[in-house]
This record gives sequence, C-alpha cells and structure tokens, in this order.
Amino acid sequence: MHDVAIIGAGPVGLALAILMARDGLSPVLVERQAEDALAAPAFDGREIAVTHHSRGLLERIGAWEHLPPEAVSPLRRARVLNGADPYALTFDTGDGGVGALGFLVSNHLIRRALYRVARGMPAIRMRAATEVEHVSAGAEAATLRLPGGEALGARLAVAADTRFSRARGWMGITALTQDFGRSMLVCRVAHEAPHEHVATEWFDYGQTVALLPVNGDASSLVMTRAPGEIERLMALPPAAFEAEMTRDIRRRGLGRLRLESTRHAYPLASSYARRFVAPRFALAGDAAVGMLPITAHGFNLGLRGAETLAREVGRARRRGEDVAAPAVLRRYETAHRLATGPLYAGTNAIAALYAREELPARLARHAVLRIGGAFAPFRQAVAAMLMDRGAGAGRG
Ligand SMILES: Cc1cc2nc3c(=O)[nH]c(=O)nc-3n(C[C@H](O)[C@H](O)[C@H](O)COP(=O)(O)OP(=O)(O)OC[C@H]3O[C@@H](n4cnc5c(N)ncnc54)[C@H](O)[C@@H]3O)c2cc1C
Repeated sequence: MHDVAIIGAGPVGLALAILMARDGLSPVLVERQAEDALAAPAFDGREIAVTHHSRGLLERIGAWEHLPPEAVSPLRRARVLNGADPYALTFDTGDGGVGALGFLVSNHLIRRALYRVARGMPAIRMRAATEVEHVSAGAEAATLRLPGGEALGARLAVAADTRFSRARGWMGITALTQDFGRSMLVCRVAHEAPHEHVATEWFDYGQTVALLPVNGDASSLVMTRAPGEIERLMALPPAAFEAEMTRDIRRRGLGRLRLESTRHAYPLASSYARRFVAPRFALAGDAAVGMLPITAHGFNLGLRGAETLAREVGRARRRGEDVAAPAVLRRYETAHRLATGPLYAGTNAIAALYAREELPARLARHAVLRIGGAFAPFRQAVAAMLMDRGAGAGRG
C-alpha cells in the first residue's frame, strides 16, 4: 500500500510528488505518457509566465537550476491596448527593486526540469506508460485500476490529470466549465525590432493578440480568434502565415515576422471543480482549477495548491495521523479555494468582456482600461498580483 498515488506527471503532479517526498512521503506517480516523453517533452507552444513566488519554489526544490539560463526571459513590463486607441494600460515593477514582473519559460522545459528532480529522488516511484482506468475509494484506501486488471492501493489518491480530468468524474465531482467559443493559436516568432522585454496584449475586432517577450528578438505569439479562423491559420503554409501575421501586427512596430516553432491550438475554456476533495481523494493543478491562460496563472496556482496539499499531508504524517483524514483534506480545499476563487472569477469576467464585439462591450473595455490606468492603486495591485509577492510570498 502506497501512502500517496498521484495521477498525472504533468508539471503540477511532478512538483507535488517532489514536495511530498521532501516531506517524508513516498508517492507513486502514474502517467500515461512514456518515460522518454517525460524525460524530453516536446515544445507545446506554452510560454509560462512564472511569478517570483513560483520561481522561489522551483529554486528550493532544485528544478530551476535545470533550466538553461538563456531559456529564462525576464518580463519587465506589460501593456494592454484596446483597438486602434493609442492609450495603453501599463504594468511595471514600480520601485520594488526586483527588476522583473515575472519570467517567461517554455512549459516543456519546466516539465523536463521537474522530471529530472523527481527522477533523482528514490522516494518517488514512477509508473510511466500507464493509463489510470478508474479510481474508487473505500474506508481505508483509494484504489487505482491500471491496465491488465492491476489494482494500486494508496491512503490518498491525487488527480492532476488535466482540466478534462476523468478521475474527477469517477469520484463523482462535477466542474463548472465555461467555453468562450474561441480558440488560441500559440507559436514562437522572430522579429526585426527588439521587444525590450515588454509584453503587449491588444484587442481588435474579432481577435485578441498577445506578444510575450522571449530571449533573442523573438516572442511567443498568442492569437485568439473564432475556432474556424484558428484552424485556417494552423493549416496555412509557413510563408503565408508569416505574411499574414506580419500584416496583422504591423502597428506594434516589430517589423517582419518569421515562424520559429511549431504552431499549437488550444480552446479558450475554463473549469472549476465544485469540490476539490472527496474521501481519500484530492484534485490538484488544472484538474481542480483550469484557468484561462489570459492572466497567466494556471501553473502558478497549481504550484500554490501543491504546496498547500503537501504541507497539510506532511504535517499529518509527522504527527502519525491518517494522511487523508477529512480534516487534512478540508484544510487544503479551504485554502486553495480562497487562493483561486477570486482570480478565476476575475479572469473569466475579463475574457467575457473581450470575447464580445458589440458596442457596449467595446466601450466597457475602453472604460476599464482608462479607469484602471488613471487609478494608480489598481495598477499597482495588478502588478503585485503578476509578481505574486504580496499574497504570502515565501510561505510554504
Ligand atoms: C497557451 C497556454 C498558455 C499558458 N500560460 C500560462 C502562464 O503563462 N502561466 C501559468 O501559470 N499557466 C499557464 N498556462 C496553464 C498551464 O499550462 C497549466 O496550468 C499547467 O500545465 C497545468 O499542469 P497540470 O500538471 O495540472 O496538468 P497537465 O499539464 O495537463 O498534465 C496532466 C498530466 O496528466 C496525464 N494524464 C491525464 N490523464 C491520465 C490518466 N488517466 N492516467 C495517467 N496519466 C494521465 C497527462 O498525460 C499529463 O501528463 C497556460 C496554458 C496554455 C494552454
């Protein structure tokens, strides 16, 4: 019998296993992808804006040192614009002396770094190329059903198995889901002019575009449009795609664009589980809270939750208590709902405003940007949220 079984060796499942192993537990990670895909994950288009708090955690567990230094790009400023209006709502670090709002790092490199740390910890058992087929819970243990009829027992099962979590459903937990009827195309583009490490996001008729600065006069291009349009862009030959994107973003003054990576599409949809725990079971990462990427917090909040869950479970183990006692799981659920609920609701409200093209929505966008810009405390609060230094940084 294992003390903890984690379903999914994505970034959050891996971080959770590492944190728990550092706290004296011996988690088993069950992942459907093969070991070589975990050891050398392919580029998936996602550039993760890592907050200072997340960076601190990744440093503490030894993952940050596995990131090539040139793959970490500081984000110095962020600008948000509405249509052709030259006014920009700008976020910067203020006088905090920290130099960057956060750091952009490719998701596949974060996964690779976390895998390397987990692989080096004898307490973590890795079951790769193994798809969990079902989860159930009894009074003493949770049981994962694996291929070939194998049953794996654990005092606590944690599902970190994507925002479309099947384990969530097997345990009878439903989720609030919201589909914004848009898709996102993400890829890397090189450009002629430098970006000065400033991220720019703007709203045009029928589309939202973000350019996130990565090292080497290149940016991560995030284009949000109707799903049919995204399919068309995905299918365009590279030269035609480059020409169209160069034309569409010429106002940003970056010059000609060159495609530097594969293109990836994701639906603009969010999900929030109605409960994060059930008897002998907890949800983590996107399986608990599937944030929209627009405020760049899915992974950061997933890490927060992993810290909270590992802390509560570790404390129970040290006291010789049941690691899945209802009070342990309840404390995790309460803390993680508090940490995620307001940001989740706020992000969805912004997305709803920007996914619509009627005149009232366009005027509201304009007003939100102007009022936000004129109101310094608002700007400072958003920058602090991006930097994640105000809310308990250094905890855990
Ligand atoms: C375009 C884009 C940009 C983003 N930008 C940011 C950002 O700037 N900042 C930020 O914080 N977040 C960002 N995010 C969100 C971030 O990528 C996610 O929050 C994060 O990847 C969630 O990690 P996870 O481990 O919970 O899930 P996943 O990364 O989805 O991993 C889940 C794992 O579970 C495995 N699995 C699933 N089912 C089973 C099963 N039955 N049995 C075994 N294994 C299973 C899968 O194979 C996978 O490896 C972005 C997301 C997108 C799409």
